[in-house]
Amino acid sequence: MSETIMKCYLLDEKETNTFDSVITVLTNDNSIVSLYAYGTKKILSKNSRNLIYGDLLEIEFFRSRSKNSLSKLKKIKSINNSKPINYWDFGLLLVNTFIIENNKYFKFKEYENYINIISNLDTDESLIFSLFKIIVWSGTLINLRCCSICGDNKIKTISIGKMGYLCAKCAHSLNEYIHDTDFNKIFIDLKNENVDTLKDFKFKNQLINFLKSYIDKNVGFKIYNHLGVK
Ligand SMILES: [Zn+2]
Repeated sequence: MSETIMKCYLLDEKETNTFDSVITVLTNDNSIVSLYAYGTKKILSKNSRNLIYGDLLEIEFFRSRSKNSLSKLKKIKSINNSKPINYWDFGLLLVNTFIIENNKYFKFKEYENYINIISNLDTDESLIFSLFKIIVWSGTLINLRCCSICGDNKIKTISIGKMGYLCAKCAHSLNEYIHDTDFNKIFIDLKNENVDTLKDFKFKNQLINFLKSYIDKNVGFKIYNHLGVK
């Protein structure tokens, strides 16, 4: 085993027995790495105190040379200079689960940008932005250019089943629910990462439910199975 030092973000921590755990991190070479972490469950463990989601961490580990054995954690410490996300952020945990389930590699810079954005949001806003990002990262199409059926530029609503915007005529013929104009527009802001508009957005719960259903129906990620989401 050779010793390696890298920057990373914590994606997951699973207890293996009373004292030890397996942690999964996204490292600055865009890899998702699982490591055996001895003693992190002991009360006085220094490493344990630094295992914080959304915090930029420096990790020292012994890299496994075999594909069948895990690398081993030596030391982990927070090197965050910005505001850490210390609360239990549901959106962040869903994003982490999604990344682990769907990727061997993930762009570190992209994740860092995402963390910087949600660190300025409250938990509902973070959940909205996180759910939207899961749709984007899954590669699932969401048509925000024109009516998904006929291509008309005049937008009346947005549809889960038709995966994007609909014009008045198509929405009417499909008997689709007509969302508020502000509701339709927020998707463009989310796409452009213009999250300031979320602060005064009136339909947060409606949007969370829309995005959850969108993911459940159109993305191969069973959100309702995760973390007891109902
Ligand atoms: Zn149409």
